[in-house]
Amino acid sequence: MTTPRIAIAGAGLGGLTCARVLQLHGFENVTVFERESSPEARQQGGTIDLHADSGQEAVRAAGLFDEWRALARFEGQEQRKVDPLTAELIEHEPPEGDFRPEIDRGQLRELLLDSLAPGTVSWGLGVGSARPGEVTFLDDSTAQFDLVIGADGAWSRVRGAVSPAVPHHTGVLFVETRHDNDGQMLALTGQGTMVADGDGLMLWVQRNSGNHIRAYACMRAREDWRPSNAELLELYADWHPSLQAFLTGELIHRPLYALPVPHTWEHTPGVTLLGDAAHLMPPLGVGANLAMQDAADLALALARDGVRDGVPAYESVMLPRAIDAQERTNAGLQDMVPERPIRV
Ligand SMILES: Cc1cc2nc3c(=O)[nH]c(=O)nc-3n(C[C@H](O)[C@H](O)[C@H](O)COP(=O)(O)OP(=O)(O)OC[C@H]3O[C@@H](n4cnc5c(N)ncnc54)[C@H](O)[C@@H]3O)c2cc1C
Repeated sequence: MTTPRIAIAGAGLGGLTCARVLQLHGFENVTVFERESSPEARQQGGTIDLHADSGQEAVRAAGLFDEWRALARFEGQEQRKVDPLTAELIEHEPPEGDFRPEIDRGQLRELLLDSLAPGTVSWGLGVGSARPGEVTFLDDSTAQFDLVIGADGAWSRVRGAVSPAVPHHTGVLFVETRHDNDGQMLALTGQGTMVADGDGLMLWVQRNSGNHIRAYACMRAREDWRPSNAELLELYADWHPSLQAFLTGELIHRPLYALPVPHTWEHTPGVTLLGDAAHLMPPLGVGANLAMQDAADLALALARDGVRDGVPAYESVMLPRAIDAQERTNAGLQDMVPERPIRV
């Protein structure tokens, strides 16, 4: 029996989860098209907390729960808040339970990649555009499928097949820095996340595996502002030196974008979206969880109802869930980095 030909654009956490769950349910004709040339082409992002009611459920659907659990950092659930001027601890949540343990994004992606049938991912073949049942690749070749799934992230090329929406700048800039084996920083950060905020500025620090730290300076800023280390330190001039230390080293500027709320579309046979392609939202600990939950839900709906009926069944669950999460994270971003004062 031939199984449906399914194209998935993007080998992120969403696309890979979808491919894995489909393969577990007997779909043999699944290809993931990834623009990057290899799994090592780009260093993957920081740490991801997988929630018991979404990301963890997706890992379970992918048959990888025990493997994930073996890598998960339960101690990473610790949350610390410090005073920006003194660096003294003012709030502390010790790590408890197993609702949201952390794992490095690279480890999770590798787990998913290793679980796929050999040759599932076509590396270095980016999607240029899509129509229902058809993909045009960046090399101008075209191929037909029974279903095209856009899991190609914020700047999805598949999205145009169902919706004219494009992401807008949220008015917030994250500036990322990375630090290894720094005893003072590790002590201040604890086992999980440490935050400090004041006067419209925030510092958000996360411990990754292997004594690696990623820190994010968060502020309101113009879309095109790329502060230098000196300009950043000037903004945080009143802050305690041990916190200013996180603003040193190479800076990676991440202006934050989001899709309009609500972002929805008329069901279009032959094509659908999941993850950031469907509902890019501020990074408040939800996006990767939702991408994986979407992916598992879509694959399970296809296995249960077939391609024709499975996609609308998935969309009827995914779209309202995404709108709710978009509303919550947009409101959360306003609280986290208040509208005023605009810094630059
Ligand atoms: C700083 C930061 C921290 C975050 N922390 C968290 C967190 O702790 N928890 C959480 O749940 N979420 C977090 N998020 C959000 C999370 O990263 C995203 O929501 C999640 O990665 C979305 O997954 P995805 O599979 O939809 O897309 P992506 O992870 O963006 O994957 C898309 C894939 O598609 C590929 N691609 C892109 N264009 C094309 C193309 N044209 N053709 C083929 N392939 C293409 C890309 O190379 C990539 O591999 C964070 C985001 C940021 C910016």
